[in-house]
Amino acid sequence: MRVLSVASEVFPLVKTGGLADVVGALPPALAAHGVHATTFVPGYPGLAAKLRKKKQVHAYADLFGARASILRGEAAGLDLLVLNAPTLFDRKGGPYGDASGADFSDNWRRFAAFSRAAADIAGGAVEGYVPDLVHAHDWQAAMTLAYLRYDGTTVPTVMTVHNLAFQGQFPASIFPELGLPASALSVDGVEYYGGVGFLKAGLQAASAITTVSPTYAQEIRTPEFGMGLDGMMNARSGDLFGIVNGIDTDIWNPETDPHLVARYSARSLKARKANKAALEERFGLDRGQGPIFCVVSRLTWQKGMDTLVETVDGLVAAGGRLAVLGSGDAALEGALLAAASRHRGKVGMVVGYDEPLSHLMQGGAEAILIPSRFEPCGLTQLYGLRYGCVPVVARTGGLADTIIDANEAALSAGVATGFQYEPSAPGGLYHAISRAMEARARPAEWAAMQRQGMKSDLSWKKSAARYVELYQSLIAKKVPA
Ligand code: ADP
Repeated sequence: MRVLSVASEVFPLVKTGGLADVVGALPPALAAHGVHATTFVPGYPGLAAKLRKKKQVHAYADLFGARASILRGEAAGLDLLVLNAPTLFDRKGGPYGDASGADFSDNWRRFAAFSRAAADIAGGAVEGYVPDLVHAHDWQAAMTLAYLRYDGTTVPTVMTVHNLAFQGQFPASIFPELGLPASALSVDGVEYYGGVGFLKAGLQAASAITTVSPTYAQEIRTPEFGMGLDGMMNARSGDLFGIVNGIDTDIWNPETDPHLVARYSARSLKARKANKAALEERFGLDRGQGPIFCVVSRLTWQKGMDTLVETVDGLVAAGGRLAVLGSGDAALEGALLAAASRHRGKVGMVVGYDEPLSHLMQGGAEAILIPSRFEPCGLTQLYGLRYGCVPVVARTGGLADTIIDANEAALSAGVATGFQYEPSAPGGLYHAISRAMEARARPAEWAAMQRQGMKSDLSWKKSAARYVELYQSLIAKKVPA
């Protein structure tokens, strides 16, 4: 089976968050089931240069006003197709915006062009390659499915929502430039609250919809989490599936991780001390016995970082220390930096994005705090489990599905892996931190919890099998009886 995976990020070539990790890790996991995935990504700066066995497989004189070509090649063990369109994608800044963090004003054009090209590939534009199924990820790839629909290309499709908060909404004035028939500007097409909705268009056209955890698949059917799309999610509930993300257990392996000062297994947890000492150094924390809570996150409201700010003083007063790695909202960044200077030696902050440091934090801190307001799946709690860095999480979305709260029943059964709290409860995060501190004071109980997390099956094995089942059922449906 050949699957064309269409996404705006893929680890290790371009990453701003969990989407990239998933898009990069799924192909090798699918390969174990005989599914060959080819990943189509935009040609960001330097990306085409990383391709081995590179060749041009399609050319456009004019793709949404840009000269463009499609390149095929391999990088990081992935079979890749790349949209080489320098005026659209070979730009300074990030994948979606300039260095100041502002979105590019022509994002609609960039990702409509990308999706147009993806639909062309699925329609046979690349000689010798026709996928059996198209799998689009998030709004940047979603228009692929709308183009396929209006082209009349009947390939089965899956639309995966990694975060419903990012929808790709644009004014109706762009519609004439999208190259779709006039009939597409309707409620059952691309029209969305008077404008054009890229994600909505993809959801409408998809054969099946998935999201990245079973709890989030239920939550997005409610007004609180549906972000305006709960009606559609309910209407399509028969085609909506929650498949929890796995992690790349080779890249995230404390026994072999090159980013750690000391490598370790569940049998040699004491070796984590050397990583903790390196963290103290890196974050300017006083040497000490108290637990280090870490945070590796985008600094946003979604991630509950304002709750963290409110909780810092209590955490320090209770004898904890805090190491934060993240960037994002300037006000949250400022508030956390202020907390670090208020609690010098107890709270440290590194502003920015640092993949190696994120590994060291999981390998050295006692616990990772994830106070998200909503969390489609979340990956940092999974990395925490794998590294014996006990997750302290809000009970929402994938966090609810992947962590077993250390309540009395779970502790006595030996299945607890972390601490959960109700996100709506006032002081919930502080209370969960206190529970973690108390458990940490009982070393045998704490180590058992670390080992239980490290034992969990976090690989892609089970979830890749679920994607394959879904792909097979959609392909089987396409064949007339
Ligand atoms: P989201 O995709 O919503 O940001 P996830 O938990 O699904 O959240 O994935 C976040 C990914 O990005 C993880 O791999 C995490 O380790 C990584 N990450 C987030 N912030 C940083 C940072 N400042 N430095 C390094 N890695 C980060």
